[in-house]
Amino acid sequence: MPETPNPVTTRFAPSPTGFLHLGHVHSCLFAANAVLDAGGRFLLRIEDIDPNRCRPEYEVMLKEDLAWLGFSWEEPVRRQSDHMADYAAALDRLSALGVAYPCFCSRKEIADEIARAGNAPHLVAMGPEGPLYPGICRHLPRETALARVAAGEAHAVRLDVAKAATLTGPLSWHDRGRGEVAADTGLLGDIVLARRDVRTSYHLSVTVDDAIQGVTLVTRGEDLFHATHVHRLLQALLGLPVPDYHHHGLLLNAKGERLSKRDGATGIRTLRAQGLSPADILARATGNMPFGTEG
Ligand code: GLU
Repeated sequence: MPETPNPVTTRFAPSPTGFLHLGHVHSCLFAANAVLDAGGRFLLRIEDIDPNRCRPEYEVMLKEDLAWLGFSWEEPVRRQSDHMADYAAALDRLSALGVAYPCFCSRKEIADEIARAGNAPHLVAMGPEGPLYPGICRHLPRETALARVAAGEAHAVRLDVAKAATLTGPLSWHDRGRGEVAADTGLLGDIVLARRDVRTSYHLSVTVDDAIQGVTLVTRGEDLFHATHVHRLLQALLGLPVPDYHHHGLLLNAKGERLSKRDGATGIRTLRAQGLSPADILARATGNMPFGTEG
């Protein structure tokens, strides 16, 4: 008998940049509960592409806390830093499509350009997280860009979203909170595909990993909703399957604000040391939003 695929595969994908806190547990519960209801696979992925911010000891503690809370996940755990070749292959494919370009700009150059264009606001496209990359290197003649790369000049790689969208046409995804969502693929502008220091980016590695791991339902916080628009574009360019999405609300305090360190102990280590049980912590992490109903 051929194996029938499991109905749902979700993942929790923390970055090991610090201790596990209630916001993480909220997100992890959301992903794990989606599988509980439907039967399926629950994965843990370690998003550690940033060597300056990620630490192996945080990964160890994060897993230990999750296991103590009663979570279990399928092994082996995928650790992004072990899979740079997968991201390089995806980047090659995007380059071959002609939608990737080298970007030599420093943060300062970008900020200066935006400030200059600020005098002519129609030239500065605003995104949900601030002004978008103003396209300086997109306009470089190809030979100039190639010569600078060949000379070893440090550079990031960006996606030419306007050109990419002409290749894919209109796109959408099914969002369990919002229904069918039309992808606004230019929402974040020409996103970085590979950083200067790390030859991938959050957007590229997450999109590639979800496909490689067979994730069928991506659950993530509302704060990453904007990113999903461009991930949908990357899927279309790379010929990857399109999972369902469900963006969950963020854990709020009694005043309805996003939970922060100001609200006292949110670190699981601290709460454990105070004598809270896994059930107490899970109750706190569930928060004031019923799972499965928020948009
Ligand atoms: N690693 C991301 C974070 O810690 C989440 C990635 C995702 O769910 O797309 O916020």
